[in-house]
Amino acid sequence: MAEEIPTFKLVLVGDGGTGKTTFVKRHKSGEFEKKYIATLGVEVNPLDFNTNYGKIKFDVWDTAGQEKFGGLRDGYYINGQCGIIMFDVTSRITYKNVPNWHRDLVRVCENIPIVLAGNKVDVKERKVKAKTITFHRKKNLQYYDISAKSNYNFEKPFLWLARKLVGNPQLEFTAGLALAPPEVAFDESQLASWKKEMEEAANAPLPDEDDADL
Ligand code: GDP
Ligand code: MG
Repeated sequence: MAEEIPTFKLVLVGDGGTGKTTFVKRHKSGEFEKKYIATLGVEVNPLDFNTNYGKIKFDVWDTAGQEKFGGLRDGYYINGQCGIIMFDVTSRITYKNVPNWHRDLVRVCENIPIVLAGNKVDVKERKVKAKTITFHRKKNLQYYDISAKSNYNFEKPFLWLARKLVGNPQLEFTAGLALAPPEVAFDESQLASWKKEMEEAANAPLPDEDDADL
C-alpha cells in the first residue's frame, strides 16, 4: 500500500515578471504531475522533497499571468498553508508592491508561514540591495536571495517552510532533488558581496515604524 505523503498548498505570489513560473519549473517532479484548474486559470505544480523524516509534497499554485492585471481571486488563496512572496531584485517597483501581496495573502490565510524571496540575484546590476530589504523583519517572514535561473538557494524557501509546517527544525532535505540545469553562471565574488551585505543589513536597526511601509 502506498504511503500517504504529507502535502501542503503553497501560494506563490508577486508581481508579473518576477520569475515565479521560472522558479517552480526548475523542479522536475512538478512538470510531470502538474494540474491545470481552468476555472481559476491556475497551474498546480506538485513538488516532492525527500527529508530525513520521509517525503513531503508542496502543491505550488502558480498563476497564468493574471497578477499583471491586479489582485488575484480569493480562490487562489483559500486553504493556502504556506506562501512565497517573490520580487525581482532588478526592479524596485516589484519590491514596493510586496506589502500589497502580503496584505492580500494574510487577509485570506492568517498565520501561515511565509517566505519573501528576492529573485534574479545573478544579475550584476542589482537595484534592490540588502539594506532596503526590511519588510520581512517587520512581519516575521523569512527572507532569501534566490536566482531561479542558476538554482541558487532554490531549496531554501521550501526547507524553511517544511520545518515550520512540520514543526521540526531538525528536518533536512536528503539527496534526490532533480533540478533543471542552471541557465546562467553565477560570479562567486558577486555572491560573496551579496552575502556580506545581507549580514550587515540583518544587524542594522529597522527604519522607524512611522515611516512608510518600506
Ligand atoms: P512570472 O511572471 O513571475 O511567472 O515570471 P517568469 O517566470 O515568466 O519570468 C519573467 C522573466 O524573468 C523571464 O524572461 C525569465 O527568463 C526571467 N527570469 C526568471 N528568473 C530569473 C533569474 O533568476 N535570473 C534572471 N536573470 N532572469 C530570470
Ligand atoms: Mg508566471
